[in-house]
Amino acid sequence: RPVIELAGVTKTYPGGVFALRSVDLVVDYGELLAIVGPSGSGKSTMLNLIGTLDRASRGTVRIDGHDVASLPDRQLSALRARRIGFVFQQFHLAPGRDALGNVADGLLYTGVGRPERERSAEAALVRVGLGDRLTHRPHQLSGGERQRVAIARAVAGDPPLLLADEPTGNLDSVSGAGVVALLRELNEAGTTILVITHDREVAGGLPRQVPMRDGRVI
Ligand code: ADP
Ligand code: ADP
Repeated sequence: RPVIELAGVTKTYPGGVFALRSVDLVVDYGELLAIVGPSGSGKSTMLNLIGTLDRASRGTVRIDGHDVASLPDRQLSALRARRIGFVFQQFHLAPGRDALGNVADGLLYTGVGRPERERSAEAALVRVGLGDRLTHRPHQLSGGERQRVAIARAVAGDPPLLLADEPTGNLDSVSGAGVVALLRELNEAGTTILVITHDREVAGGLPRQVPMRDGRVI
C-alpha cells in the first residue's frame, strides 16, 4: 500500500477560497519527492492535510493505510506523533535547550525515560553529522546546523514519513544544498520524504517533482 494517497481532495477555507481542487496523489514507501509551485498554489494546504493537521473538505486522504476522515482526533494525534516527522522553514528550536535537549524533547510523546531519549537523540544527531555539536545551543550553530538539529528531531523516533516545508527557505545556497544532500541520505536509509518548495532548483535535484498551480496538480 502507498504511504500517502489523496483521491479527489478538495479544500476550501471560510470565505470560499478553493485552496485545493480535486487533487490526486499517490506516494509509495521509499520515495523522495518535491511538491513545487508558486506562492498560493496550495502547497502548505496539501502539507497540512498529509500531515493530518487539517482535514479535507471533500475526497479521501489516506496516510500509512489510515483513512484520516475516519480517525478521531486522539488517534490522529497518535498517528501524527509516531508515523510522521515535520521539518519547517523556521527551525522552531527552543533557544534555551542545547542540540541534544531539543532533539530529546521531540521524543517526550514516546513516554520513555530521559536517558533513553538522550541516547536516541544523540544517535539522531550523529546521523545528521552533528555528533560534535550536542551541547551547542541554537545561537551557537549556523543556519544549516540548526536545520540539521531540526531534522534530527524529526527523525529521532524513526517515522516512516518525513514532511519538510521549505526546509532550505532560510538558508544560503551552500547550506541549502547540504540539507538536500542530508535528505537524500535519510531517504536512501529508508525514510519516505516529501519536500515542499517554491525553489525549482531544490525540486529539480530530487527524483520526483509534483508541480502545483492554483490548487491543482499539473
Ligand atoms: P502555498 O503554500 O503554495 O503558498 P497555500 O496552501 O498556503 O499555498 O494557499 C493556497 C490558497 O489558500 C491561497 O489562495 C491562500 O491565500 C489560501 N489560504 C491558505 N490558508 C488559508 C486560510 N487559513 N484561510 C483562508 N485562505 C487560506
Ligand atoms: P556558517 O559557517 O554557517 O557561516 P558560523 O561561521 O557562524 O556559521 O559558524 C561556524 C562554526 O562555528 C559552526 O560550526 C558553529 O557551530 C560554530 N559557532 C558559531 N557561533 C558559535 C558560538 N557563539 N559558540 C560556539 N560555536 C559557534
